[in-house]
Amino acid sequence: MKTGLITSDTYQSHNTGDGHPEKIDRVTVIIDNLKKLNNKNLIWKKPTKFDKSLLKITHNSDYINFVAKSFPEKGLSFLDGDTIISPGSKDATLDAVGSIITAIDGVQNKEFKNAFCAVRPPGHHAGKNKAMGFCIYNNVAVGAHYLINKYNLNKIAIIDFDVHHGNGTQDIFYNSEKVLYISTHQFPYYPGSGTEQEKGKYNNIFNIPLPAGTTSEEYLNAYELVLERIKEFKPEFILLSAGFDAHKDDPLAQFQLKSQDFYELTKRTLELSKLYCNGKVVSILEGGYDLLALQESTELHVNALIEFN
Ligand SMILES: [Zn+2]
Repeated sequence: MKTGLITSDTYQSHNTGDGHPEKIDRVTVIIDNLKKLNNKNLIWKKPTKFDKSLLKITHNSDYINFVAKSFPEKGLSFLDGDTIISPGSKDATLDAVGSIITAIDGVQNKEFKNAFCAVRPPGHHAGKNKAMGFCIYNNVAVGAHYLINKYNLNKIAIIDFDVHHGNGTQDIFYNSEKVLYISTHQFPYYPGSGTEQEKGKYNNIFNIPLPAGTTSEEYLNAYELVLERIKEFKPEFILLSAGFDAHKDDPLAQFQLKSQDFYELTKRTLELSKLYCNGKVVSILEGGYDLLALQESTELHVNALIEFN
């Protein structure tokens, strides 16, 4: 079967201002590169419009209303110190959520085996009632809730390999029996959370903090712990919070991963997913701020999604 690639032109209108690391070109370089490669095993789709009540499962109504009213008619507005929105951010923000819905439907309906969502803004720092760290809605959390509510699944695993801890995702699922959240991340570092002691009400949070300077070998060894936990949990579906800012060239963090490492970790995850959830994996873009590293790493990530699906 093929791999879904979900993206939208609206991300080009989510302007975060000059010099902001979470910039328009991030998704543009990924998409231009994948279009040029023209792999026939990719099925390209735009995000569908979705029922906005889906957002309310993840976020407070007051927060959703606040965000809806915050988009400026011109210029830029701030949702927090580094989360900036422009007039075009409204559609982009909804499309980022819609992408994971579209990807999940495509996998569940066997339109494609797995999928990658190239989106902005990212989501894993966004909490129930707050924007944070470039994130507005928690895209991957909406996806997990959608799998539970629409498809009646009871065991969702979220693997977050972004170099930052996904504090928003952890908070949203801290008391959830149905969602296992696993994160590898630089620690101590932004956003400050992500210790081994943060385990969740049902032992459903698994944090693997790693020091600045972590090498490929050290990281891939740590990733084996992620896979061991997946084996124990036996998920029905795996969601990937796919940040590529653990790359050695990334300006926002100090891990030393190479582009090829993202192929390797994706391959290992997919091989395991075949044993437990029939290869059902949906990956959604989080961070990654060096454009060339992001282009290479996402190409290899998508190649692995295609080759091992
Ligand atoms: Zn990050």
